[in-house]
Amino acid sequence: MTRKILVLGAGGFIGAHLVRRLANEGNEVHGADLKRSEFSASAAYRFMIADLRDPLACAEVFDRGYDEVYQLAADMGGAGYIFTGENDAQIMRNSAAINLNVVAACERTRAGRLFYSSSACIYPARNQVDPDHPDCSEDSAYPAAPDSEYGWEKLFSERLYLAQARNHGMLARIARFHNVFGPEGAWRGGREKAPAAICRKVAEARDGDEIEVWGDGEQTRSFLYVDECLEGSIRLARSDVTSPVNVGSDEMVSINQLVDMVAAIAGKRLSKRHISGPTGVRGRSSDNRFIEHSLGWRPSMPLRAGLEKTYGWIESQAHAVPA
Ligand code: NAD
Repeated sequence: MTRKILVLGAGGFIGAHLVRRLANEGNEVHGADLKRSEFSASAAYRFMIADLRDPLACAEVFDRGYDEVYQLAADMGGAGYIFTGENDAQIMRNSAAINLNVVAACERTRAGRLFYSSSACIYPARNQVDPDHPDCSEDSAYPAAPDSEYGWEKLFSERLYLAQARNHGMLARIARFHNVFGPEGAWRGGREKAPAAICRKVAEARDGDEIEVWGDGEQTRSFLYVDECLEGSIRLARSDVTSPVNVGSDEMVSINQLVDMVAAIAGKRLSKRHISGPTGVRGRSSDNRFIEHSLGWRPSMPLRAGLEKTYGWIESQAHAVPA
């Protein structure tokens, strides 16, 4: 079945991959973003440059009736952008404005169903102090206490879409993404996340060098390869699951282990220098019991396999582009 699909944030990392995947399935995919992807030409049938904070621009993007809308547009970045505090007001205002405009446009055009990408950053900081046993089950989100304004905005927007579903019958599907990585993601410039930053540092290092790691490196995380993120997102979007679902890996590693894994892939012997930097919560990993129960599917690709693909891409970028 060919669907008419709108992807918001289509010029971003996950959005560009999602457009390609949906177009390859034979759908008519329309994309919108402030900018195009800097890494590849969009596979969209139509790509609209639009600032979704502007209600009129957002309304124009919804000039057709769509069967599915994937709302990925957000003011977004890695720990160096989200956790320093300097961008808090901008993050909240920009992303909340986008979501308020999108919910209104969906209602006006009677969009078929809406998929929203929330984040693991909504989970309470108190459940993520033990690096070996973080609790990120979906029902642990309340009483709410995210550790960043980015997380609070995501929680607000989850509730916005859920309220719209309750009061006006919107078909809203909500994923809580956990650290998605892969080729064509930001890898330098301040918005890159840990896997990309580490791949870049390792690619730029010579055998025997020392590389910088934020914090003591014992903080734990799980990382989801982008193809599995797409698979989970599309399955969820087309499901009848109405409550938020974790879309993440449960292969938890410390940042030090992540560095060692990337160094091994690169075939380099590297030592680590731990420096102060924004690190976020002490431990986080996806709890995949609910996704398995509700969708009959869960991510299963080993971290190492995704890192091999990502390292290869970042290494080629780092050697092609002057710093
Ligand atoms: P990204 O920054 O690459 O993509 C977001 C896109 O939104 C960007 O291309 C940006 O230009 C666009 N955008 C921002 N403001 C806009 C505006 N006013 N109008 C139109 N477009 C605008 O991020 P990503 O990693 O692809 O993430 C996609 C979504 O998934 C985001 O909502 C993000 O919060 C969420 N998420 C991602 C991760 C992850 O690990 N990548 C984890 C949790 C949640």
